[in-house]
Parts: sequence; C-alpha cells; structure tokens
Amino acid sequence: MPKLAIVPEALCPELVDEDAAFEAVSKAFAAMAEDKASNFPVVREAIGHADALYGFKGGFDRAGMTLGVKAGGYWPHNIDRGVTNHQSTVFLFNPDTGQPSALVGGNYLTAVRTAAAAAVSIRHLAREDSRVLGMIGAGHQSAFQMRAAVRQRHFEKVVAWNPHPEMLPRLAETAKELDLPFEAVELDQLGAEADVIITITSSFAPTLLAEHVRPGTHIACMGTDTKGKQEVEAVLLKAASVFTDEVDQSVTIGEAQHAIAEGLVDRAAITPIGAVIAGLHPGRASQDEITLFDGTGVALQDLAVAAVAVERARERGVAQEIEL
Ligand code: NAD
Repeated sequence: MPKLAIVPEALCPELVDEDAAFEAVSKAFAAMAEDKASNFPVVREAIGHADALYGFKGGFDRAGMTLGVKAGGYWPHNIDRGVTNHQSTVFLFNPDTGQPSALVGGNYLTAVRTAAAAAVSIRHLAREDSRVLGMIGAGHQSAFQMRAAVRQRHFEKVVAWNPHPEMLPRLAETAKELDLPFEAVELDQLGAEADVIITITSSFAPTLLAEHVRPGTHIACMGTDTKGKQEVEAVLLKAASVFTDEVDQSVTIGEAQHAIAEGLVDRAAITPIGAVIAGLHPGRASQDEITLFDGTGVALQDLAVAAVAVERARERGVAQEIEL
C-alpha cells in the first residue's frame, strides 16, 4: 500500500545539512543543463486576504525522479502572531502514478537550498585562492549563506555591509560561530578586500556598483527574485561573465533583468551554472575575470532538498506515514 510521508518543519534542520543541500542542488542544476529536468511556470498572486502573496513553483527532474510543487508565499502580518512571514510547504508526487508521496515543511529548506545555490557557484566559479568573503545583507537568509559559503574556500575573514547597520550583529554572531574574524565596513572597502561577495537583500535599487568590484571577484547575487528588485549596478553584469540557475528567470525576475532591459547583456551570453557542473562549460576563464551568479531560486532546488528530507526521515523512522 503506497504511503504519504509527512516531514514537519521542525525536523528539517536535523535532516538536511549544508553538505546534503549542496549535493542535491548541484545535481538538480546539472540535470537542468542536460535537459533532464525542467521548472514549470511560476504562479504568484495577491489573494486579497491578509495582504498575502501566495503561489506555486513546480517542476520535474527525470534524472532524480523528483516531481512536485512548493506552495506558499508571504504573509506580512504573521510577525504579529509570532509566526514566520515567509511560509512554504513542498508536496512530492510519485512520477509513475501521480499519487502524493510526501508533504514537507519548506521554510528551513528554502533558506538552506538558496545558500546551497550560492555555494555551488562559489565551488565552480570563485578563484581557488579566495580568502575574504564579503556579505551584503543581514536578514534571515544571510546566516545560512555565510555557513554554506565558508565550506567552499579557505576563507580567513568576513567583511560585511547592510543598508540597516543595526542588523549586522546577526552576521557577526555567525562569523564568530564559524571562528572567522568579522568586520563591518563601507561598500568601497568591502569591494577592495573581498574575493567573493554574496548579496542577499530585498533591495529595489543597486547598492554594489561596478567601481566597488576588483578584477577576479566572484559575486553571487541571491536577493533578486522578483521583477523590480536589484542589488548590483546593471553595468557590472556587462563587465562580468554571467551565470545563473535558470536563464528564463534570470532575464525576467533575476538580477539580469535590468542589464537585459538596458541592452547591456545579451541573453545568449548568460550561462546556466548546470552547464559548468556537467562539464559542458569551463566556468572561470582567468584569474582576472569577474564572475557573477544570478541566483533566482527554482522549484527543482526545493524538490531536491525535500526529497533528501523525506529519504532521511524514512531511514531514521521519524516521518509520519499515512496510508493512501
Ligand atoms: P529579510 O527580510 O530577513 O532581510 C532583508 C534584507 O534586505 C536585510 O539585509 C535588509 O537590511 C535588506 N533590505 C530591506 N529593505 C531594503 C531596501 N529597501 N533596500 C535595500 N535593502 C533592504 O529577508 P531574507 O529572508 O534575508 O531575504 C533576503 C532577500 O532574498 C529577499 O529579497 C528574498 O526575496 C530573497 N530570497 C531569494 C531566494 C532565491 O532563491 N534567490 C530565496 C529566498 C529569499
């Protein structure tokens, strides 16, 4: 008798760590580049209640046999109820029968899979001798980003800037936990020192400018996931080799939307990171090249980490199983 596994939100952190998320996301990106996996059009709607934005992100990975959808969105008044504003749940289905196979809490998984995407880009695109990590953004996602990034290179220091400096102690705490020196700096110093820069803000205007960035830097732009958002100056994408999770999203809702609209970058020049993972593209071409990863967030990332959560929960006997 087929069973539906329920993996509640509270169990996910102990089931999927940074390394497991990295492997799962890396495989999903490679499958996308090899045309073995695709994301379906995203639905996102204002529901006319509680000022909420609600939607679905779905996809199918034929390589990993992962079919499903992440449903959820943003409830701005949750904070008054002591509940996280961003809410999501992943539903997985048996690709052979269409029967539901799992229901998994998606809040922690969203953060760990987003950080894994940036980490994958650092693994494949950052200079091997990268030693200073620059962080722009100090919200919920930022600590996850730092924890995943530091596993990819021998970083010796973290420098950070945030439009709201009062939020920076969160990053200082995370750096301390990782045993790394931390310094809050201005943007010009951040650009002058950092070998890798992660941007993870909800900004609608560029903060990191081309003049801030040195040759050889790798930048992972992770905050722009909606039309209108922007974290870096559009001309910076012209100066860089641009990679992304999915080109369709990059040019419409990702960081590249502005450079495309201004005619600074051609869509054909944007490379899916999966092509680098799968060995179809060489990645960084020289020590002086600026590489930029436009991480827009795709359903297949969510499905990949949810599948790991279900597999591990079943192995450990902690999934709640319901007969269909
Ligand atoms: P958060 O609300 O916890 O933190 C927001 C961050 O953005 C803080 O650093 C804050 O100082 C900054 N910020 C807020 N308003 C700003 C403004 N007007 N201009 C510039 N900066 C501003 O959010 P979070 O959960 O850390 O998410 C950060 C961003 O990442 C959001 O834009 C979110 O939509 C995006 N995100 C992307 C993905 C992806 O897959 N690419 C996944 C999850 C979240």
